[in-house]
Amino acid sequence: MNRAALLQALRDAVGHGHVLTRDTHDLAAWERDWRQRAHGHALAVVRPASTPEVAAVVRACAAHGASLVPQGGNTGLVVGSVPDDSGTQVVLSLQRMNTVRGIDRANLTMTVEAGCVLQAVQQAAEAEGLLFPLSLAAEGSCTIGGNLATNAGGTQVLRYGNARDLCLGLEVVTPDGEVWHGLSGLRKDNTGYDLRDLFVGSEGTLGIITAATLKLYPQPAATLTAWAAVPTLQAAVELLGLAQQRLAAGLTGFEVMGQFALSLVDRHMPQLRVPLWKDSPYCVLLENSDSEGEDHARAQFEGLLEAAMEQGLVSDAVVAESIAQAHALWHIRESIPLAQAQEGLNIKHDISIPVSRIPAFCDETDALLQREIAGVRLVNFGHLGDGNLHYNVQAPAGGDAKKFLLEQESRVNQLVFEAVARYHGSISAEHGVGSLKAEHLTHFKDPVALALMRRIKQALDPHNRLNPGRVLTP
Ligand code: FAD
Ligand code: ZN
Repeated sequence: MNRAALLQALRDAVGHGHVLTRDTHDLAAWERDWRQRAHGHALAVVRPASTPEVAAVVRACAAHGASLVPQGGNTGLVVGSVPDDSGTQVVLSLQRMNTVRGIDRANLTMTVEAGCVLQAVQQAAEAEGLLFPLSLAAEGSCTIGGNLATNAGGTQVLRYGNARDLCLGLEVVTPDGEVWHGLSGLRKDNTGYDLRDLFVGSEGTLGIITAATLKLYPQPAATLTAWAAVPTLQAAVELLGLAQQRLAAGLTGFEVMGQFALSLVDRHMPQLRVPLWKDSPYCVLLENSDSEGEDHARAQFEGLLEAAMEQGLVSDAVVAESIAQAHALWHIRESIPLAQAQEGLNIKHDISIPVSRIPAFCDETDALLQREIAGVRLVNFGHLGDGNLHYNVQAPAGGDAKKFLLEQESRVNQLVFEAVARYHGSISAEHGVGSLKAEHLTHFKDPVALALMRRIKQALDPHNRLNPGRVLTP
């Protein structure tokens, strides 16, 4: 590779000031992943401002034999958005592509560029009195391109689906530098293979998403939040069934939080005042979004919680009295990962299991891990409504967490993933594969599916230029 000629071609594509190299810039923010598990070295960070510029960057890299790593907000959790340490990869940051191209109120759609921060997309919809429901704790810095590339989930999937379900059309730059103009606002279109669904969730390995047409919804008239202590995980699953029956589409959130997870928030963030956790193995956060109004929502919630208490599914509960209280309850839920980080290094899993089998899975796997790995502590919480648990493993108290991770991480992963397979679950419900789980995929994905995925990659990107080594092992 002729480095100087490539840099010149990149400068011709996006302008001199938008090709950053280590000679002139500190590239750490683009080279290091959010969890600080990897610190690569980029040949350059390139920041195009338009789709033709992205296409020109891709063609320049293809002409000079360089591989590309697409990057949005760099909040991904599986080491997929940072370069390797070869110093030969170009990081293509979409962050300057942050225009809302338009909102079609009657069609309930909006078209945005890939670098728009998720929160800005939510706010643009809200300014029109509409709702873009994708919501996750990284929404202040993750981008819609990254959300689609990872098919992000979050806290509203139960009602509105994940990023894939919220996307009607895409604009994509292919590995050859062509532009696919697929920004359709159609809800029905059966004209052949679904290319949109191929690019969604492909983690930057098949094409670069430059813009998307997204689904919008009417804003609910009122949104209420409740916090309930439940005696068992099985009771939480039964409460979910009751809430689905009574609230129907109004049930927009159903999160479960284990006692140890909440104890970490209590310990590291005492100002947050976690309710009801001390006497209960699990607490549940429920959200009711109502199209009629607050009184109706409250009456429905109270009816649900009374019935749940009568059936022994809930031992105690609080319904937020104000928006501030509701935010405070959600803030506790969203603070668990941070509290966990403050407690020390840990091993993260984002698994999914059919909801009905989650209690048995947790009973069996909790006991297995405790038997096999002395002193292990389980931080179990997540989107129970979607069958998606953040089944995380914290090092034993007081020990050397770094040493624990080094010695036990692969064993812990193996035990958890084998249990997931026994329960016909998935080893990644929402964070994706990246580099971190690419090797695991070779053991836990159906071999025919894996072979088809390799053939698709080969057909679209035969020279393996887009995010090589991510999702699929070399
Ligand atoms: P990046 O991290 O920059 O990239 C992620 C992947 O997408 C990489 O493989 C990258 O190459 C690719 N990519 C990025 N942009 C493009 C593009 N335009 N075209 C093609 N490929 C691209 N995830 C959930 O699903 N649910 C959660 O609840 C959740 N909570 C989180 C909470 C926190 C605090 C954090 C830090 C992360 C969380 N995540 C969650 C992880 C989640 O995947 C990301 O936050 C988000 O979806 C990634 O967006 P990003 O713009 O930061 O992408
Ligand atoms: Zn999550």
